[in-house]
Amino acid sequence: MASMQAMRQAVRADTDSAQRPVLRIEGLRKSYGALDVLKGISLELHKGETLALIGPSGSGKSTCLRCINFLEHPTDGAIFLDEARIGQLPSRRHGWRWMSDRELAPQRAEIGMVFQGFYLWPHLNVRDNVALGPIRAGGMARAEAHALAQEMLDKVHLGHKADEFPERLSGGQQQRVAIARALAQRPRLILFDEPTSALDPELVGEVLGVIRELAEEGRSMILVTHEIRFARDVADRVIFMDQGHIVEQGSAAEVIDRPRVERTRSFLGKVG
Ligand code: ADP
Ligand code: MG
Repeated sequence: MASMQAMRQAVRADTDSAQRPVLRIEGLRKSYGALDVLKGISLELHKGETLALIGPSGSGKSTCLRCINFLEHPTDGAIFLDEARIGQLPSRRHGWRWMSDRELAPQRAEIGMVFQGFYLWPHLNVRDNVALGPIRAGGMARAEAHALAQEMLDKVHLGHKADEFPERLSGGQQQRVAIARALAQRPRLILFDEPTSALDPELVGEVLGVIRELAEEGRSMILVTHEIRFARDVADRVIFMDQGHIVEQGSAAEVIDRPRVERTRSFLGKVG
């Protein structure tokens, strides 16, 4: 049987729009004072592609995702969403300048983010947690946002929990609500930063199951994870990062089954 990755690749090859990257990063650098965390990261995410970002703790994976969503201001580099530069505006004096938080808000909504912690509002039920973004940021009418929230909750198999408050849900269920909340923004891509690392082992599977379904649907996603077998199974491409550099990238089979670089081999030997 053809692998899921191979089937998705065939579907993508059939549509021209899929040839264009939904996200392109050029020479991304981030420093905190004298500490250079990202030392020039360039990558592309194609439409419908699931990209797994792996690497040792402290290698800069979270910083990379946070720069893509402008939770951090990059020190240098450029980020393009569907070929349009985001986060920066032309400036007469400096070439480009970083946008203010207010200018960034509409662009941020195009990029969904799911963190290790779930960050749901404790005083809102699950439906309102999911509907809040579309109402506040998207200006959607309440009834429409609630219908959208219900649809997204159904997608993560939690439609029956819409009236519950977060504290009544397991960690796995809360993370699925956080995924529904990201989906409700109708983002062009979704970034996952170790979405299962805070979960008890028995709850990891249900969250990975939802991520797998999103990959099968052809969502564009970057997934930072230590679940190497899952990445091998679901990701179209894998990037191995170490010390702020991309060390190796390729298909999931190339990077995980047949790593070319010793640093990748040694990392996989430890976590695999
Ligand atoms: P990873 O997600 O791969 O574990 P991070 O991107 O979280 O790595 O961190 C990379 C490096 O950047 C680490 O050395 C970390 O201590 C440092 N770092 C991250 N955020 C900050 C910050 N806000 N201020 C200073 N150093 C930071
Ligand atoms: Mg991290």
